[in-house]
Amino acid sequence: MSFVGNFVRATIGLMKGLGITGKNFLRTVALRQAMTITEKWGSRKIADRYRGIVALTTDLQTGKENCVGCMACMRVCPGHCIYIEVERREGHHGRYPVKFFVDLSLCSFCGLCVEVCPTPSLIHSHVWQFGGYSRSQLLLGKGQLLNWGDEEQTRRGDAELITGKRSQQRRAKKTDDKQAE
Ligand code: SF4
Ligand code: SF4
Repeated sequence: MSFVGNFVRATIGLMKGLGITGKNFLRTVALRQAMTITEKWGSRKIADRYRGIVALTTDLQTGKENCVGCMACMRVCPGHCIYIEVERREGHHGRYPVKFFVDLSLCSFCGLCVEVCPTPSLIHSHVWQFGGYSRSQLLLGKGQLLNWGDEEQTRRGDAELITGKRSQQRRAKKTDDKQAE
């Protein structure tokens, strides 16, 4: 194509791009039609399979925390963002996590901690609207993680999925299968 032809095509492309930029500029600045979805306009619907910030669950039947303090999540985390301190506690299966922190500023949402957890203690929540102005605000404590876990358990509404140890669930399933034979 000739120089003139290329010049015309490039100018048309440039004008189209500038037109879109100008239109959105007017919408956001002059007409105040913000492009960001905030709580004011309601939240975006999140897909069921969405894997948001990790959260801690409790046994819905007993109300006890599901974490047995095995430290597997802390060891497997590639970002070293999990910190746990445990102790033996009467009535708690395994070791009780006295402290459980997740540093969100380091988390890559890889999901390895959830995969490796032998109990259904760590799950991905649907929380995605969370931020802070300093790194310390992104350090999530146990209270926060349990709150989000409660919300996620309520949202899923599937007690079986996140109640009790997975090994117990597997044993129960085997027994059911045997009885069915
Ligand atoms: S999702 Fe990945 S990076 Fe985030 S806490 Fe779990 S293992 Fe660590
Ligand atoms: S892997 Fe699961 S049970 Fe083990 S310490 Fe982490 S959250 Fe608790």
